[in-house]
Amino acid sequence: MENNFTKVGQLEKPCVDCGKVIHLNQANNQQLIESNLCARCYHWTEWFKRYKTDNNTICISGFLYQIIEDPMIQVTCPPGFTLAPNPVIYTPKIGLKEDVNLYPVGLVPSNFKDRIINNAVFVSDEDKHLFQAINSLTNENKRRKPKTE
Ligand SMILES: [Zn+2]
Repeated sequence: MENNFTKVGQLEKPCVDCGKVIHLNQANNQQLIESNLCARCYHWTEWFKRYKTDNNTICISGFLYQIIEDPMIQVTCPPGFTLAPNPVIYTPKIGLKEDVNLYPVGLVPSNFKDRIINNAVFVSDEDKHLFQAINSLTNENKRRKPKTE
């Protein structure tokens, strides 16, 4: 095993991402040992994977959110979080989206800030028409030039 225990519940080598001590008192100890990440960096590495692959995982002003598509799932904010009711968002990947159900994942930690960058914005009522225009232009371009990726 590459990373040995020093004290009980603590790994010898620090977290490969943030450099902090890896404490093992989590439910996912095995993943922490295998990845050599602290619980916080492991959590954010998993969210980073989703952010890269899932259009519904979005970052607005340095805060990560998950769009919950099922309207039956009512998002309840963790304590300390507030969200505008029925917010309108714009993200280039999805376009303009009204009445979104957002789950607040959390403030992106500093060591993830250059990986998880802002890719969406909250749209105010006054700016909605601007984003509707962007939306229709984008859709028109998509029809003209189908993606060849
Ligand atoms: Zn870490």
